[in-house]
Amino acid sequence: MHYISTRGDATPRKFCEILLEGLAPDGGLYLPVQYPQVDNTTLTRWRKVYHEQGYAELAFEILSLYIDDIPADDLRALCRKTYTAQVFGTGEIVPLRHVENGVYLEALSNGPTLAFKDMAMQLLGNLFEYELARRGEELNILGATSGDTGSAAEYAMRGKKGVRVFMTSPAGRMSPFQQAQMFSLQDANIINIAVEGVFDDCQDIVKAVSNDLDFKRKYKIGTVNSINWARLLAQVVYYFAGYIQATETNDQKVSFTVPSGNFGNVCAGHVARMMGLPVAQLVVATNENDVLDEFFRTGVYRVRGSADTHETSSPSMDISKASNFERFVFDLVGRDGARTKDLFSTQLSATGSFDLSADPAFKDAAARYGFASGKSTHADRLATIRDTADRHGMVIDTHTADGLKVALEHLQIGTPMIVLETALPIKFAATIVEALGREPERPAQFEGIEALPKRVLNLPADVTLVKALIEKTCS
Ligand SMILES: *Cc1c(COP(=O)(O)O)cnc(C)c1O
Repeated sequence: MHYISTRGDATPRKFCEILLEGLAPDGGLYLPVQYPQVDNTTLTRWRKVYHEQGYAELAFEILSLYIDDIPADDLRALCRKTYTAQVFGTGEIVPLRHVENGVYLEALSNGPTLAFKDMAMQLLGNLFEYELARRGEELNILGATSGDTGSAAEYAMRGKKGVRVFMTSPAGRMSPFQQAQMFSLQDANIINIAVEGVFDDCQDIVKAVSNDLDFKRKYKIGTVNSINWARLLAQVVYYFAGYIQATETNDQKVSFTVPSGNFGNVCAGHVARMMGLPVAQLVVATNENDVLDEFFRTGVYRVRGSADTHETSSPSMDISKASNFERFVFDLVGRDGARTKDLFSTQLSATGSFDLSADPAFKDAAARYGFASGKSTHADRLATIRDTADRHGMVIDTHTADGLKVALEHLQIGTPMIVLETALPIKFAATIVEALGREPERPAQFEGIEALPKRVLNLPADVTLVKALIEKTCS
């Protein structure tokens, strides 16, 4: 399998060549040159694999279609080491819970940091360690987080050989639980940096360091952001596992609703559907930051400025532009790299938007790609959390509530609807208290983490100080 860029660079690259990279050299995102097709016989076999041998083996089956530069036995071992009941809480890894009338929640949030990002990041940690050892190289991951990504990256990379994580976050802006999750890590290869400023200041620091090519090369700076292809690929697996659990035969279609921000999660659903998974609808659920809902309703993609990006109670979906969206648009416009480049490079930088409403490809998007969308607000979130607790005795987190609210608007009789549960409620306890008047349940391993000793450096929002810290740590 080879990978190409969405902006027309067709130089074929192998999986391990793009594993440690972000953008393609032409500024595009990597995608496989084609999607492997899964026929009925294979899907039936995978059903048995999941039920009899488990999620890790299913992951190996799917990943091996995309990765041919890691020996099969090594890849299988990496999957087995990653997807264990010990790390993810259950033998099913991603169990389905029935809510009502064919609506299910697929639990993706029982990993170490209680958000779905663990599903991909845990695999990435093992892949990085494997590939760096093979090359005899080291990597310094520099990131910016407002909560979920940073902790998922740290828990995936802690104690891994050859990898260090420098994670910036805006001082005092994460929930106490999220701060405790990150700052209580005592591993020497995890370096937390609390920046005096907001999330944008942290992102600016990461960008400034990455743009200093000499520094980047000398200190082997890398990232683990959501455009990384390996993260997206790891997420494809749970669409298959969700389908297999919700159906008995392959004649049945299911729909998925995905709480969305950067379009990484739902893009994995798109890939699964392109491979032949029988998916009726892929419903994109947004919060008040509705860039994606607007596109799927109107055909206009309009990125927002920071003044128009709302701080909401589902903060992991507070985005002004959706960094993985280019992958879907590349497929939508018939994999035309020149056209994708024009839309994302020329038109977006000139006007902050592009308009596909008159394009036949957009008019066909729902029929050809199954996409639908909807939006949920703070009031919807509270109402959905209350209703789900009252009627079903289940407490769901704020992002999952956005998903469930939008899913209920898109039900089709006879088609199971799977809502992806992207975090556990304890991560966003303040809003749960607002909705229900009580604290959400706290998994036992997180009892009292706010009181643990904290390991964090406080720095002003100054890139030279962050660089100096990296230099000092690496010398
Ligand atoms: C990251 C995140 C999302 C958004 O996922 P994308 O892949 O960016 O669309 C939704 N919910 C939670 C809890 C998250 O952490």
